[in-house]
Amino acid sequence: MAVFDHTEFDDHESLHFINDAASGLRAIIAVHSTVLGPAAGGCRRWTYASDADALTDALRLSRGMTYKNAVAELPFGGGKAVILGRDDAPKSPELLVAFGRAVNSLGGNYVTAEDVGMSVEDMRHVQIETSYVSGLPQSGDSAGGDPSPLTALGVFLGIEAAVKSRLDRDSVAGLKIAVQGVGHVGAHLCHLLHDAGAELKIADVNRDNLKAVSDALPAEIVAPAEILYSDVDVLAPCALGNILSSATIPQIKARVIAGAANNQLSTLADGALLAERDILYAPDYVINAGGIINVSHEYHGDSSEEKAHADVAKIPQRLHAIFDEAASTGRPTNELADELARRLIAAGN
Ligand code: NAD
Repeated sequence: MAVFDHTEFDDHESLHFINDAASGLRAIIAVHSTVLGPAAGGCRRWTYASDADALTDALRLSRGMTYKNAVAELPFGGGKAVILGRDDAPKSPELLVAFGRAVNSLGGNYVTAEDVGMSVEDMRHVQIETSYVSGLPQSGDSAGGDPSPLTALGVFLGIEAAVKSRLDRDSVAGLKIAVQGVGHVGAHLCHLLHDAGAELKIADVNRDNLKAVSDALPAEIVAPAEILYSDVDVLAPCALGNILSSATIPQIKARVIAGAANNQLSTLADGALLAERDILYAPDYVINAGGIINVSHEYHGDSSEEKAHADVAKIPQRLHAIFDEAASTGRPTNELADELARRLIAAGN
């Protein structure tokens, strides 16, 4: 398994492979950059087809966190942890405590929180061994707790910005929107979109998550294999990454793609493919920064829920700047976002 020669290796500062035989924990922590602060990024628990796939995910996600935190102007670098889901090693308190020990051994270089497959409750176990953890239960009106509602809020505001820019619409009322994945973020997003008058199509491979949303609000259920190609105005990917590729992009009917999932583009060149098809793409790490903004306010301990909301409300203006530059230069939005991130990191160096 290539590491330094890996196609996704991007001068990551360090990679940590953790094996705790007693609890069954196997994890990878990728510290991409600490230039702007401790490497912050959630912990994902997922059953990967191979260890190599887990490494690829950790490398890509941690780099994305560096860019996300830079563009959101947070005092954080970028990192990510992946816990390898295995049938013989369920997510036990012991395994989570062992993960906390691994995070602690990095001495604050990496700050963790929840991502796909992890919950606020899980972070309480992680906290037993380390203080380098966020996304813990909220106390009073201070910032904290599950980051996904604020991620969803940022995505909702970002969708409004994108439909203003591409469709000249002041709101999502009456627009058809397809949401791929109705887990933590996707479900909150559906409620916000429905309340604002959008017509929803939803898909999920998890029947319980699908039922929870479709029982609560009107939404057309679409097969997971079809949702990307729905006849809608907006596609909001809120499941996993790698969904926008040369195979899928030619079949997409939406004119706007704006959702929470990390690493939506299979390759950087897929951003250009979207631009060629005149589909406006909201760069994933710009639009989905609401959760890490909340985590930052919580971790630095001096902030309120209100201040976190005010910072999430800045996401649309960042997107508008990128959309405007894309319109005037004809360049893909993902390239412009990456350039902005690199400029901000260089300035903080
Ligand atoms: P989650 O695990 O709660 O939800 C993901 C949902 O997607 C699940 O219901 C899952 O069954 C579904 N799914 C998986 N594969 C699918 C497929 N092929 N088709 C349809 N549905 C599928 O995770 P989440 O916390 O809601 O995060 C969703 C995405 O947003 C992830 O990519 C995550 O990295 C990203 N993200 C989350 C946050 C956050 O605050 N939670 C912040 C930033 C980015």
